[in-house]
Amino acid sequence: MTESTATSLSPTDSDYNSFPQIPTKRVLVTGGAGFIGSHLIDILMQNGNDVICADSYFSGSKENVAKWIGHPKFELMRHDVTQPLLVEVDQIYHLACPASPVHYQHNAIKTLKTNVLGTLNVLGLAKRTGARLLLSSTSEVYGDPEVHPQVEEYNGNVNCVGRRSCYDEGKRCAEALCMDYHRQHHVDIRIARIFNTYGPRMFFHDGRVVSNFIVQALRGESLPIYGDGLQTRSFCYVEDLARGLLLLMNCDYIGPINIGNPVEFTIKELAEKVRAKVNPKLKIEYRQMPKDDPKRRQPEITKARKILGWEPRVHLDEGLQRTVDDFKSRAQANPKNLFI
Ligand code: NAD
Ligand code: UDP
Ligand code: UDP
Repeated sequence: MTESTATSLSPTDSDYNSFPQIPTKRVLVTGGAGFIGSHLIDILMQNGNDVICADSYFSGSKENVAKWIGHPKFELMRHDVTQPLLVEVDQIYHLACPASPVHYQHNAIKTLKTNVLGTLNVLGLAKRTGARLLLSSTSEVYGDPEVHPQVEEYNGNVNCVGRRSCYDEGKRCAEALCMDYHRQHHVDIRIARIFNTYGPRMFFHDGRVVSNFIVQALRGESLPIYGDGLQTRSFCYVEDLARGLLLLMNCDYIGPINIGNPVEFTIKELAEKVRAKVNPKLKIEYRQMPKDDPKRRQPEITKARKILGWEPRVHLDEGLQRTVDDFKSRAQANPKNLFI
């Protein structure tokens, strides 16, 4: 894996030029005001596409796409995907769904509705318009995996009655719906299984480990590790991830395909990296491990490498630095962000 040498906090024109240049289209991004969706929209807009962002703002924010509001090729809709949607587009990136455990467990039934009814509606839309639909699925379909690293053929180990099941089983059902619309109605689908992603614009208090550690560190407080910190995750920088989604949408392979960074870190190692970047004097505090928390997670990305010609470029050290700098500048602009 190569490490990027870019040091700027936000993408520059030359960064965008390194994204795949693809003929322009009319593109719908559901969940486009969220963390990953807004980075994807930046690339789609920079490449000259007509983009509709449909978002309920449950866990996203207009601020994330504010720079495109008023642009003649950009349209922002307040829309809940559990309701039908009538628009005419060529491609649909279906990202609408809260991703952080804190958000998706806040209203578990709504999370299930978003994954099941929301995916059904966008598949109906794709069927009617002939649009290609990319589902943002998740590594959580593998549950607490017994196979390591996780290959796409692994069927997973999900607790279907646990607190995470609204998300895990919701996404498994969304994948099943996509495959059945493909087999029964020939809808053109793509399934991306996204692994842990981080980067600028993550919400301050969404409860995910990278944002939690950075916020605590900027507040000068101890970093909370759940369990012994030896559980692992593999963290993918958001621009790498968005580039992978673009490549998948515009290739002939329907998936499912893993998109994530195969370099595995323990949560303790992550805490040490954040501490070193923000304040080496901070303490680490061990707390109880949540139930059903997967012990290991690492994508096997041979398919992404071979089929998409994709692999991550940004090393965790560099991506974390950009993320810390982004959190710092948002905290300086509005110090309340750190303490809400
Ligand atoms: P996010 O919470 O920042 O973004 C999700 C967006 O969807 C938000 O803007 C939210 O308001 C919107 N949304 C939620 N419910 C909706 C509904 N019913 N109707 C319309 N909009 C709705 O999360 P993210 O990290 O940007 O994740 C985007 C997608 O990627 C999700 O589908 C998530 O499951 C998937 N994913 C993310 C990660 C990750 O590490 N971030 C990992 C695996 C999969
Ligand atoms: N749908 C939508 N937009 C469209 C077409 C369909 O939101 O442009 C919704 C529709 O309301 C339905 C779902 O997608 O609830 C599935 O549509 P499909 O045509 O597959 O099923 P049917 O309407 O026949 O049950
Ligand atoms: N975690 C932690 N401290 C935190 C938040 C999370 O130690 O403040 C742990 C959590 O228990 C899990 C890992 O970090 O083992 C990743 O958690 P996250 O919620 O970011 O994502 P997911 O569990 O969905 O991979």
